[in-house]
Amino acid sequence: MPPGETSNRATAAERAGRVRVLLPLPLAGAYDYRADTERGLKPGDVVRVPLGRRMAIGVVWDGAAEAGESVAEAKLKDVGARCDVPSMTAEMRRFIDWVAAYTLSPPGAVLRMALSVPEALEPPKSVYACRLSVTAPHPDTTDPGEKLRLTAARRRVLRELADGPPRGTAELVLAAGVGAGVVRSLIDLGWLEQVEVAPPGSPGPDAARPGPTLSAEQQAAADALRTKVGQGFSVTLIDGVTGSGKTEVYFEAIAAALRAGRQMLVLLPEIALSAQWLARFELRFGAPPAIWHSEISAAQRRRLWREVAGGRVKVVVGARSALFLPFADLGLIVVDEEHEAAFKQEDGVIYHARDMAVVRARFAGVPAVLVSATPALETVINVERGRYAVVHLPDRHGGASLPAIKTIDMRRETLPRNAFLSPSLRQAIVETLGAGEQAMLFLNRRGYAPLTLCRTCGHRLNCPTCTAWLVEHRRTGRLQCHHCGYTAARPQACPSCEDDDSFVPCGPGVERVAEEAGALFPNARLALVTSDTMTGPRAVDDFLRRMAEREIDLLIGTQIVAKGHHFPRLTLVGVVDADLGLAGGDLRAAERTYQLLHQVAGRAGRAERPGRALLQTYMPEHPVMQALVALSQERNARDRFLTLEADERQRHGWPPFGRLAAIIVAGPDAPAVDRVARELGMAAPHGNGIEVLGPAPAPLALLRGRHRRRLLVKATRETNIQAAVDSWLSRVRAPSNVRIQVDIDPYSFL
Ligand code: ADP
Ligand code: ZN
Repeated sequence: MPPGETSNRATAAERAGRVRVLLPLPLAGAYDYRADTERGLKPGDVVRVPLGRRMAIGVVWDGAAEAGESVAEAKLKDVGARCDVPSMTAEMRRFIDWVAAYTLSPPGAVLRMALSVPEALEPPKSVYACRLSVTAPHPDTTDPGEKLRLTAARRRVLRELADGPPRGTAELVLAAGVGAGVVRSLIDLGWLEQVEVAPPGSPGPDAARPGPTLSAEQQAAADALRTKVGQGFSVTLIDGVTGSGKTEVYFEAIAAALRAGRQMLVLLPEIALSAQWLARFELRFGAPPAIWHSEISAAQRRRLWREVAGGRVKVVVGARSALFLPFADLGLIVVDEEHEAAFKQEDGVIYHARDMAVVRARFAGVPAVLVSATPALETVINVERGRYAVVHLPDRHGGASLPAIKTIDMRRETLPRNAFLSPSLRQAIVETLGAGEQAMLFLNRRGYAPLTLCRTCGHRLNCPTCTAWLVEHRRTGRLQCHHCGYTAARPQACPSCEDDDSFVPCGPGVERVAEEAGALFPNARLALVTSDTMTGPRAVDDFLRRMAEREIDLLIGTQIVAKGHHFPRLTLVGVVDADLGLAGGDLRAAERTYQLLHQVAGRAGRAERPGRALLQTYMPEHPVMQALVALSQERNARDRFLTLEADERQRHGWPPFGRLAAIIVAGPDAPAVDRVARELGMAAPHGNGIEVLGPAPAPLALLRGRHRRRLLVKATRETNIQAAVDSWLSRVRAPSNVRIQVDIDPYSFL
């Protein structure tokens, strides 16, 4: 505090007229403002306050101003108007404080996620419509006085309104075929009057509609979940194989919460692409849920935010950011595909939406339901420790069998140069297509080739601002950096040796696999499906329809086709490179590869026809491959694999047996970044259950032109890693061009 300020001498009486207001900005904490006590502002009220020269929106926060931080009475500014929105609930405020403390983020940065729709804080604009006033003459009147003023155009307008509901001006102008001036003149004459109309409401999801008849196992699982609704906080894992009816089962929990009149949230990892899920929801409940993700329009966002805050919307399905919506009366949270990495937000406030969903459920005192066929090890250990309950669905619905999974040992297959489909896999495709069934080739790599190389000098085409190769995309004819989005045309001559036309693609991307498949199966109808081709809900719908109507024989895609979809005619899944995810030093590499391949394999044989999955691998003996192969024979193969994984993590003290935090130091000036990283290294805590590794250049040592260094904090479970990191970082000063980012529970090590 500057010398001369006397805030800590402010008396309690003076402070009584103060409120703390948290602003949605990455600031250290709440600010003090003056508020008349008569105004009765209470924590949670959304208010306008002066901030510098402008007005900002903030939320009255809990707790009294502390003497040490508070501002001198004379400098206090007055709180402005209260916004016309429901107050933020105590539960939400506690949640925001908790997330901030856990992720080591400023509370204001978390608040910003909760006030992500500033326009929603304005009262909604009224919508007006016109109707006839009592003074309006009949359109066909013969009264000579009125006839003078009744032009043909005016008559048409009056006729339109004579026997119908009030109509908006724009609509009226169109219907009557007149100019807007005609309608205005009728309003001026007092013949038309404007009335406010309520925005159209729609009936919400209806729990009374009957669901499918559940199998005994499904029934037991649904009963277990139903009894949790209304019973306070709990976490339950639905652990069931793909196609076992997990969705149908948690729909029963949703129905129970709907009957209780509560609101609920369903988090899906890729909501924009979950057309099938939405269709099923509507089929079950007779109305769509409200949808929240980054691609909905500003108007939808605004309306939904207000409806959620007012408690009028009952079911919201959304991506991770939906967790910060202002539910008035949250009764249930479901996290589907809880193991998905997409739930981790990697920038801004870095948080894991599955974990924070559990925290939000705890503050709200409501059940959380986590759903997966391949639950995260963290979740499985929580079940083992008795913190989470579990319901099992070990069988596919309707007796469909799990696909038989086999490896193809690539060391024993002979492939032509620049070919990626082994003879064994090709044979299987021939059989499948011959039987009139559908096949899918999976490779989790977009584009044509991951690397383009000069055959004369070996020069590799790199991104100018990232430590990454440029990926060739033939569809667009461009080279692309998958980290920053940089694109360039393929150069004619090598920039290094200037040899002409010397570039060759190295390795496969899906486009290249599609090219090979097209040449091998010229009569098959191919479809290539990646995030480059699935550019919106319409493209997804169209693809699903073509798949269902069997306009596609051979599907080639990335992980976008691996998830959630149900293709009854698909009986063969070929994984082009099953080893792809195992490279690199990620502690979850094996677990993730297992989850992804399990999910991809699960696309096959979802209906009456049995399916099979073939994994092309150079490591058939790897525990991941072994576990997948064993899966179709033994029920406990997955648990054995998880036990192996758990042992490995326990030996190293990795999560969930220990805690991790990553510190990323980044900036445009490499020496400055190195200096800060070195200082952090020297000031690092050690001992007392804490160990700091690094600094070391990040694998992505350059990203968008910023140099990056990493440190990794490893701590025992008993250690308060946040406190240790916080006090450590407060001892190191970074210049303004160097940013220190903290990632608690890191999932990405790039
Ligand atoms: P999961 O979520 O476990 O993958 P789903 O809930 O998607 O499984 O169910 C797989 C398929 O089986 C879906 O088409 C679903 O409608 C159907 N299904 C599941 N349970 C039943 C049931 N009891 N009655 C009728 N169809 C069911
Ligand atoms: Zn780049």
